[in-house]
Amino acid sequence: MNQIINKRILNPTVTLMEIGAPLIAKKAEPGQFIILRIDKNGERIPLTIADDNCEKGPITIIFKTVGATTVALNHLDSRD
Ligand SMILES: Cc1cc2nc3c(=O)[nH]c(=O)nc-3n(C[C@H](O)[C@H](O)[C@H](O)COP(=O)(O)OP(=O)(O)OC[C@H]3O[C@@H](n4cnc5c(N)ncnc54)[C@H](O)[C@@H]3O)c2cc1C
Repeated sequence: MNQIINKRILNPTVTLMEIGAPLIAKKAEPGQFIILRIDKNGERIPLTIADDNCEKGPITIIFKTVGATTVALNHLDSRD
């Protein structure tokens, strides 16, 4: 599983997370998205990579909590 490095609540329904994903970070291009699962049986949801240059560090996602997976994701933090 990838680790949540940092979490920032931007407003009551929008959260920013930095996620350790070195293999994705190395190859990611602007405008690309990841397919995220909360756990191995989780629903697969697309989220856009929000960095303009993530080559060296974690990737950033910014998501709106709308349904089951984004609500569950929003409950996780960097200790999980
Ligand atoms: C290529 C791609 C990139 C995306 N990138 C991002 C991103 O960077 N950040 C982000 O927040 N979302 C992004 N989305 C949307 C994100 O994938 C959905 O919000 C997510 O799949 C919702 O999953 P859920 O299980 O939380 O909600 P679900 O249970 O699947 O949906 C719950 C309800 O919310 C509605 N809904 C779903 N998404 C939205 C939405 N975005 N706004 C308003 N209502 C919605 C559905 O119609 C449904 O009625 C992207 C979608 C695509 C196709």
